[in-house]
Amino acid sequence: MSQSDAEFENMQFVVLSGPSGSGKTTIVERLLATSPVKLVKSVSATTRSPRKNETDGENYYFLSRDDFAAKREAGEFLECAEVHASGNWYGTLKSEVRRARSLGGWALLEIDVQGAMRVMQEHPNALTIFLRTSSEKEFERRLRARGTETEEVIQRRLDTAHKELQFAPRYKFQVVNDDLDQAVRDINRIVQDWEKKPDA
Ligand code: 5GP
Repeated sequence: MSQSDAEFENMQFVVLSGPSGSGKTTIVERLLATSPVKLVKSVSATTRSPRKNETDGENYYFLSRDDFAAKREAGEFLECAEVHASGNWYGTLKSEVRRARSLGGWALLEIDVQGAMRVMQEHPNALTIFLRTSSEKEFERRLRARGTETEEVIQRRLDTAHKELQFAPRYKFQVVNDDLDQAVRDINRIVQDWEKKPDA
């Protein structure tokens, strides 16, 4: 463990990954409301532009590239990565992890596979869950149904999703999200069982 992360040695992390379009955002909202353990969502920082209905400080901290780079250089991120080969950066701010700790909850990180690998390295006891649809076809259908992206972006996301899927076996759990309610129930059960583990 690097010295910078020793600060969070006793923190419990829940890491949720899965391609965008796999329903993560909705699942996260439901988990926050229903989890048997108090979860505090880490609000990530990103250099991408806000989508309609996204609010700064709620969905993300929307930063300029310069501000993001400055924070990265100052060691303010627990992890950060360039996602989708789009040139956009995303990262978990240590201040968000501290906030979760001060609220007495487990930090819930909704991050990509690169970020998840980094957190796993530093925190092998992190509860890691990969959220997926049962088929790549279903995933594509959902991504298109959202209707927020251009064809080029959709193709890039499909490609990223295909690559990310190769990392799924490295997560402690995989949950299929073809039925939202079932996926939330599955994750809540996993969290509940995890809490009973001696080292949780
Ligand atoms: P979106 O732009 O659709 O909100 O998110 C794109 C991707 O960025 C998703 O796969 C999401 O999990 C990932 N992501 C969001 N926040 C973070 C973060 O803090 N760190 C990393 N590594 N990935 C993130």
